[in-house]
Amino acid sequence: MDTYHQLSSHWKKKFGTRVQKIPLDAGFHCPNRDGTLSRKGCVFCNPAGSGTGLYSSGMSLKEQYHYWRTKFLSRQPSSLFAAYLQSYSNSYGPASRINNILRELDSLPDLRVLCIGTRPDCLDLQKISIMARFPTKETWLEMGLQSSNTETLKRINRGHTAEDFDHACRLAHSQGLKVCAHVIAGLPGEELEDFLQTIEFVNRLPVQGIKLHNMYVCKNTTLARWWYEGEYIPLLREEYVQWATAALSSLRADIVVHRLTGDPTGDELLAPEWSRSKTTTINMIRENMQSRGLKQGSSYQPDPVGFFARPLSTFNTWQE
Ligand code: SF4
Repeated sequence: MDTYHQLSSHWKKKFGTRVQKIPLDAGFHCPNRDGTLSRKGCVFCNPAGSGTGLYSSGMSLKEQYHYWRTKFLSRQPSSLFAAYLQSYSNSYGPASRINNILRELDSLPDLRVLCIGTRPDCLDLQKISIMARFPTKETWLEMGLQSSNTETLKRINRGHTAEDFDHACRLAHSQGLKVCAHVIAGLPGEELEDFLQTIEFVNRLPVQGIKLHNMYVCKNTTLARWWYEGEYIPLLREEYVQWATAALSSLRADIVVHRLTGDPTGDELLAPEWSRSKTTTINMIRENMQSRGLKQGSSYQPDPVGFFARPLSTFNTWQE
């Protein structure tokens, strides 16, 4: 293992070549935006930045896949691909819709991995079973957790609880899906200790992947207003490097790290400016870990009552 267990290395080892993610927009929405839970969304959510916009321009999922595949193959001819249903909450709505969408993706050329981004409260056993039957070598359920702290989840208007994540994660694992948890460093009101508690929460669950990034402020969000009013101050890059180092060294070594930085699109970013240069930040985290003799998992303390201790039957029936 490198300093940390990178997704690109995981796929290279498994498939023998580079696997490139293709972002897909299936036109899903979000219960935290359409009025079911709220119309405000999470405080950091920029509705314009949550999708590629290709669905609203009339492109089918197959057309989107072929569009990106052609682009990527011209740069890297021997790539395989991961279809990433990225925009909004891709399991929101009836199970039949998810079934139809996945049928569209079946048998696409060079497709080896499916990644489905969603919220933990938009899942049930039927939906998860449909996803688990999809015939790729790997299927990842990418679920937003952001924080395991109840007060933080309320403060950022997530509209779900850490328990929702726990239930959905165990259910997905029981059906053979790989779970990737999305967490954010520097959420409003959180200190390093809160962030590390979220990492511990993830460690105790049957999670196989994680995405970390620093909190950045986008235009047209509640967080932007807080930032303008001086109520929210983003982490400095040096602070994030220390937080990410602490998180990685306390993270279980088997968890695949899908991302260490955010990806603000176009001109949506207000602050911090350093979020634009991902490579610099990743290099700084790696150098910081190396100079301190740290690796992913080097300070991980196994939980004596880990997720294996809990019988499957206690979560298998959730939301059936
Ligand atoms: S769950 Fe995702 S899409 Fe929905 S409001 Fe929050 S960040 Fe936006």
